[in-house]
Amino acid sequence: MNKKLPLNPGEMLGMMGGGQLGRMFAIEAAYMGYHVTVLEPGEMPPAAEVSLKHIAEPYLSESGLDRLARESSAVSTEFENVPAQALNRLAKETFVAPPGNAVAVAQDRNAEKHFIETSAHVPVAPHCQISSEQDIEAADESLFPAILKTARLGYDGKGQVLVDDREQLREAFTTLNKVDCILEKRLKLFKEVSVIVARSYNGQTATFPVCENRHRNGILAVTVMPARISETISDQARQYATQIVDALNYVGVLCVEFFVLEDGTLVANEMAPRPHNSGHATIDACWSNQFEQQLRCMTGQPLADTTQHSAAVMLNLLGDIWFDGENHREPDWSSVLAIPGVKLHLYGKAQARKARKMGHVTCLGKTIQEALQRAQDVAKVLGLPEPQ
Ligand code: ADP
Ligand code: MG
Repeated sequence: MNKKLPLNPGEMLGMMGGGQLGRMFAIEAAYMGYHVTVLEPGEMPPAAEVSLKHIAEPYLSESGLDRLARESSAVSTEFENVPAQALNRLAKETFVAPPGNAVAVAQDRNAEKHFIETSAHVPVAPHCQISSEQDIEAADESLFPAILKTARLGYDGKGQVLVDDREQLREAFTTLNKVDCILEKRLKLFKEVSVIVARSYNGQTATFPVCENRHRNGILAVTVMPARISETISDQARQYATQIVDALNYVGVLCVEFFVLEDGTLVANEMAPRPHNSGHATIDACWSNQFEQQLRCMTGQPLADTTQHSAAVMLNLLGDIWFDGENHREPDWSSVLAIPGVKLHLYGKAQARKARKMGHVTCLGKTIQEALQRAQDVAKVLGLPEPQ
């Protein structure tokens, strides 16, 4: 049965998914005296180690979902490909944030771009849907050079092909097995930034300072917070992110990725209906963090203050740094921890694999310069490219 909001400390909170985002959520929940149950098929997932209960069943198993709903006073999700029908099923018995329909919009790049542009009135890259040979012939010439992306299930740059002209588009559509796609004009990016925004069930919103993101091989590598862009552009990005959650009637934490073009124009690229890798620096650099906001949203508590108290540079730690060629080697943690302002976060994954997200380091400073210098020192120890 749905309990009355707000839910007080002591209540059990359910999480769909048991990865690092669920783990950081559970740690936050423990600080505030809430308990967590994780639904995740894998054995001993990162979140289970720090949660009271772990339901080891598939995300779509009816018995697993029913148990999660029965035992939790509210449920949230830590991964975006949780089927909307699973969230809707949970919502019959318990409070679910974010709502299934908002998650469904974020799962399809065509629906997402359409929603952002026409319902939230936020600019997006010129694009068109590609679902058939006819769509290819009808695509506007002005979209080239372009990127073809699968509409669903793409992440970390997967399911994307650069296409210079219509001929390459035909080939790329075949390469992607003719699944539903979106064709986007390739824009010249000055910077990539993101905004973490929270919206409570009674419509209160709060954004964290803008994050500036660098990717390597399609995976987030470095985040600088606050982003090194003008205050006008930062304010605009935070405003756009707020328009999106308001238009969605969203409850929970959402990340919006933006492109900053060379003339300062902001273009929304995509959104994730959950806390996001680019927001991890909020844990150490702000008065509250994205996981605390997620908890406050799902429990119907007031939102937290998002003020940033320290400049921060976050380095993602992928499994690659556990390898010297093909040989395993433990990174030199003592040398990392000897650097001032360093906060180490490891996700408790037993096996390091190349490209697997194993943890992150947040380097704090009084200024971005100081945080960046420390991040460069960390990068040197770990054999990572120096962040700029
Ligand atoms: P993913 O879900 O894999 O993160 P994105 O849509 O964010 O997919 O694309 C991955 C990266 O590709 C972006 O971070 C950006 O660097 C680049 N990219 C995506 N779309 C465009 C575009 N329209 N123009 C230029 N670069 C783009
Ligand atoms: Mg992206």
